[in-house]
Amino acid sequence: MKIRRCLVFFSLYRCDENPAVYDLHLVSPDGMTYSQPSIVNGRTDVVSVTPWLAPVVWEGTFSATLLDGIYQRQNISVAATVFAVGKYIMFLKDFLETAEQHFFVGFRVHIYVFTDRPNEVPEVKMGAGREVTVQSVPSSNRWQEISARRMELIQKLIEERLINKVNYIFCLDVDSKFHGRWGAESLGGLVSVIHPGYYKDDRSKFPYERRPTSRAFVAPADGDFYYCGGAFGGLVQEVHLLAKTCRKNFEDDAKDGIEAAWQEESHLNRYMWINKPSKVLSPEYLWQDFKPKEPEIKIIRFSGVIKNYAAIRPN
Ligand code: UDP
Ligand code: MN
Repeated sequence: MKIRRCLVFFSLYRCDENPAVYDLHLVSPDGMTYSQPSIVNGRTDVVSVTPWLAPVVWEGTFSATLLDGIYQRQNISVAATVFAVGKYIMFLKDFLETAEQHFFVGFRVHIYVFTDRPNEVPEVKMGAGREVTVQSVPSSNRWQEISARRMELIQKLIEERLINKVNYIFCLDVDSKFHGRWGAESLGGLVSVIHPGYYKDDRSKFPYERRPTSRAFVAPADGDFYYCGGAFGGLVQEVHLLAKTCRKNFEDDAKDGIEAAWQEESHLNRYMWINKPSKVLSPEYLWQDFKPKEPEIKIIRFSGVIKNYAAIRPN
């Protein structure tokens, strides 16, 4: 009896020390009821698995009830980063308010806001177990630099505050709103979101960095999908490695006098080509308000708002 109790204690302790184990062992709470799964009936209009057998998450491919039950039992915590530098502070209120309604509702969530205007961060009432922390960052007169420095700041945030304390992290664009559930179905080791603009195109047409001198280079016959720079995530250890690698490649490119076509999005795409994401989120997870809805999109969960670039960017 004594030994058993000790073993139970030991295994809980091990879970706290090593959050990676959470992703590997899924325990369903007793007595859960949810629809019977099928391997012959399901969505036929979309592909829900990649060639390396990672799930592609679409509405109708998962049970929200079951996933919430599994992950609530693990008492996971989720961090999110969002950058609101310069005039982009104007998007923060809607982002935070809609995150309260749709992003990991019922879970421990900690949103880190990076801004040069800490006094203008709106007061948003957060639910139990949910909080916002504001971190000051310098202003910049080049939007490319703001966008690109995100990887460095994400890397440092993970090293200084999140590693071994938080399980998962998502890094999101601020110029967007949640419109539908974004929850435990999105959890995975390394998680990417397919860009809504190119998912029906031939890969040779993707806006990857095409100059071989850049460390973000992807050849015309290479690449799986075109992923968004505006939303990615996963276990903090995985996102740490991604951010560190993309930052280094971006900085080494800069030393050689080259800036990839879409800054950190290009480096992220190169990274995801080599390091395959273990979960891929469909464009439901980052749509664009100006795009007409396509028939395979049954729900828009998160979407970029229409913005006037000339009026809000510093250059
Ligand atoms: N950003 C910012 N201030 C700026 C430019 C960009 O805070 O002046 C941040 C913000 O989080 C934004 C992200 O960088 O969502 C990416 O830039 P943007 O949304 O303009 O790129 P797009 O989605 O239009 O490609
Ligand atoms: Mn954006």
